[in-house]
Amino acid sequence: MSSWKLALLLFPNVKDGVVMGSRKLSPQDLENIKQLAKSWGKIVVRRAFGDEGPGLDVDLAQMEEVAVAAAQGVTAGALEEATRQQAQSLGQEQSCPQCGQRCGMVEKERSVEVRGGNFQHREPMGYCPACRRSFFPSAATSEAGHARL
Ligand SMILES: [Zn+2]
Repeated sequence: MSSWKLALLLFPNVKDGVVMGSRKLSPQDLENIKQLAKSWGKIVVRRAFGDEGPGLDVDLAQMEEVAVAAAQGVTAGALEEATRQQAQSLGQEQSCPQCGQRCGMVEKERSVEVRGGNFQHREPMGYCPACRRSFFPSAATSEAGHARL
């Protein structure tokens, strides 16, 4: 048996070295992600300053400006993708938390402030015509300023 198959038996929530689903990320998982993103920094520098790198006239403040812009971009891209995938897994309908009737979901887009910038949150929102209320069923919503239902 390959070590990979063994790893799948021992850690069924790990696929292609990626942590799956709802398990809380460990400090080691976060460190691995940080190392991955660190390698992207080299790409950002090449894109910003060319293959030769920054000239001698570029000071640390300018370099930091590039790094901060890149970090904000990674933050927005990661949160937009993660919340989009989570919204998709909710499906087209959810039960109204008040009367239980199945209600169609729509997306409500808004900018959400987070550590390290902001992102466009396409939030899944249900509306119950019987109760005349809207509701937000996703877990990402509670941290984004709505009460979770
Ligand atoms: Zn209802």
